[in-house]
Amino acid sequence: AKGMGRNNFQTYVAVPEESHQQRIALETKLRVAERNNELRVYYQPQVDSLTEDIVGMEALIRWEHPELGMISPGFFIPLAEETGLIVSIGEWVLRVACNDTKRWQNRFNLPLRISVNLSALQIKQPNLVEIVRNVIDETGIDPTLLDLEVTESISVKSIPNLMETLQALRDLGCRISIDDFGTGQSSLDYIRRFPADKIKIDQVFVRNIGVDPDDEAIVRATINMAHSLKLGVVAEGVEIEEHFNFLRDHGCEELQGYLFCRPLAPVSFENMLAERERL
Ligand code: C2E
Ligand code: CA
Ligand code: CA
Ligand code: CA
Repeated sequence: AKGMGRNNFQTYVAVPEESHQQRIALETKLRVAERNNELRVYYQPQVDSLTEDIVGMEALIRWEHPELGMISPGFFIPLAEETGLIVSIGEWVLRVACNDTKRWQNRFNLPLRISVNLSALQIKQPNLVEIVRNVIDETGIDPTLLDLEVTESISVKSIPNLMETLQALRDLGCRISIDDFGTGQSSLDYIRRFPADKIKIDQVFVRNIGVDPDDEAIVRATINMAHSLKLGVVAEGVEIEEHFNFLRDHGCEELQGYLFCRPLAPVSFENMLAERERL
C-alpha cells in the first residue's frame, strides 16, 4: 500500500460491563458529548483492488471523552440507537463527512466517494430524505459520490418504509451499500429486491481467507452473486496480503482494512492524501 502508514494504531479504553445506573450515566455523558464537541469523524480509505488508488473512504464516528479517552463506537452506538440519540448524531456525522469530503475533493481534485453509515432508526424518520437533500445542497457534494451504508440485518418488518426510503435516496443520486453482508438472515429474494448498488462483505468472512475453505467459498459466491445482480463489491477487514490477493484475484473491486490504513483523524487523512499526491 502506497504511503498510507500502517502503524497508526489506536487504542480504546476498556469499558466495563455496565449496570442500569451506569447506563443512564453513560447516556447523560453521551448527550453532553454531543453538546461539547467530543464526537469526531474518522476516515478509513477504500482502495481499488487493482491499482490501490484511494477511491473513497468510510466515515466512522469516535468519542473522545476528556477523562475516559477514546470510546469505541461498538460500545456507544448501540446505546445511541436505544436512546434515539443516533438520529441527531447520525445527521451530524453525515454533514461533517460531506463537508470534509467536498473540501478534499476540491483540494486534491479527486472524485473521492464518501460512505456514511445509516442506522435503522434514521431510516424510520419521515424526514430522512429531506435531511440528506439539505446536506447535499449545503455542502455541494455530488450525490453520486455519497454512499449510504445500511446493514443487511435491517428489516422491512420493523421499518415499513424501508424500500421506498432507500429508493428515494437513490432518486436523489445517492448510492446504497448493504453493510455486513452475509451476517444477517436475508433471503436471496430480499437481496434481489433491495434497492442497492453495492455489497460489503463482512470481515468475519474476510478474516478466514487462508484459514477456512468454507468461508473462502462464501466470499467467492458473494462476489459472483453481487456481479450477477449488477452490484459492486467491497470487502472490509482486509488485514494481510493473503486477504488482498485472494479478493483481488476473485474480482472484488474495492478493499478496506488495516492492511491499507486504519481509520484516520481528518488532519491525518488529509496529510495522507497530500503525501500520496507527491508520489
Ligand atoms: P462497520 O460499519 O462494519 O465498520 C467497520 C468497522 O471495522 C470499523 O470499526 C473499522 O474501524 C473496523 N475495521 C476496519 N478495518 C479493519 C480491519 O482490517 N480489521 C478489523 N478487525 N477491523 C477493521 P469501528 O470504527 O469501531 O466501528 C464499529 C461499528 O460502529 C461500525 O461497523 C458501525 O456499525 C458503527 N458505526 C461507526 N460509525 C458510525 C456512524 O457514524 N453511524 C452509525 N449508525 N454507526 C456507526
Ligand atoms: Ca459500515
Ligand atoms: Ca461493515
Ligand atoms: Ca461489520
